[in-house]
Amino acid sequence: MSAQSKKNKDKKYIANTYARYDLMLQKGKGSALTGEGREFIDFGGGIAVNIFGAADNEWIKAVCKQTKKLAHTSNLYYTEPCIELAELLCKKTGLKKVFFSNSGAEANECAIKCARKYSFDKYGDGRYEIITLNNSFHGRTMATLSATGQQHFHNYFFPFLEGFAYAEPEIEDIVNKLSGKTCAIMLELVQGEGGVKVLTKDFVQAVDKLCKDKDILLIIDEVQTGNGRTGAMYAYMQYAIMPDIMTTAKGLGGGLPIGATLFAKKTENVLTSGSHGSTFGANPICAAGALSVMRRIDEKLLDEVCKKGEYIKTALLQLKKVKEITGLGLMLGVSIETDAKEAVRQCMEKGLLLLTAKDKLRLLPALNISYGEIDKGLEILKEVLE
Ligand SMILES: *Cc1c(COP(=O)(O)O)cnc(C)c1O
Repeated sequence: MSAQSKKNKDKKYIANTYARYDLMLQKGKGSALTGEGREFIDFGGGIAVNIFGAADNEWIKAVCKQTKKLAHTSNLYYTEPCIELAELLCKKTGLKKVFFSNSGAEANECAIKCARKYSFDKYGDGRYEIITLNNSFHGRTMATLSATGQQHFHNYFFPFLEGFAYAEPEIEDIVNKLSGKTCAIMLELVQGEGGVKVLTKDFVQAVDKLCKDKDILLIIDEVQTGNGRTGAMYAYMQYAIMPDIMTTAKGLGGGLPIGATLFAKKTENVLTSGSHGSTFGANPICAAGALSVMRRIDEKLLDEVCKKGEYIKTALLQLKKVKEITGLGLMLGVSIETDAKEAVRQCMEKGLLLLTAKDKLRLLPALNISYGEIDKGLEILKEVLE
């Protein structure tokens, strides 16, 4: 069957929620992907998921080994991979406990539930509101859509969940939105979908202090920024703050679906037996894959992430049509003088895959992308943006 007839079948049988690019991918190795008989350099990383690229040997070994032993048990029983993974995550963060789920939205759902219960247990009814930022993105479920501070997401699916307030990333506006109902403030430190906007250290530290002073929980959404992406294990470490709850997903599984909600001392015992759960959460195969990639995020790799990010930034800033670059590590947003979607299409024709965020180009390559692969991608960007 030709690629075109397969694509037609996709259109016929799969719900039309995705505006797919006209390309079917078949396989890959590292940051080189193959589809429809052509080679592509991948600067998108499956949206910050494939932190060690495609078909990574160690990840394959870990996943296959676990697949042969036990794929799934439910959370009624102990299994080893998730225990090891939880310990590793706590050791790498200083956070105390982990709840595992299957996606970023679910990790945030859990954080929202935990924040509300923390407040309910301690202060009783009525203290349930969570302040999020305008331009934020926290997921596609009803609660996380409600948390998402972008008006255009708040359509069609009424009624949305109540108990969210939206603020500008300025401490004065956060203070304005505070009330006796506030139980938590939830932030992405670099707003990914919102256009790779980096929050300032002053603002984030002021929010952190406000939260600690008023016993309001600070939830940091590291679904996109986490797991080495920004050049730190988690971006909050670059801000020298400590969240009460931290969520992550995307890169965590190295390509398999897994989400995690991590709790600090204040929140570690809020969720109790029966108050939350997930059938697949930390499925042994996903957890084994996650363990194999998390073990390899070390200082040396993080240093490389920073250097490669700077290297790409320096090269792109020399191109005529590039106006500004934002981001941290290998999470980069590029403002250009022409239409970003059109630029992505032109890059694809020439053999480079990348993403957009709002009106910018967005780069989220594998953390282990080689300089050779980077140069090949930059060569194409040069043709399109010079
Ligand atoms: C992608 C993303 C989510 C949602 O994750 P899913 O796995 O798609 O549910 C939530 N928050 C942030 C910051 C994200 O980038």
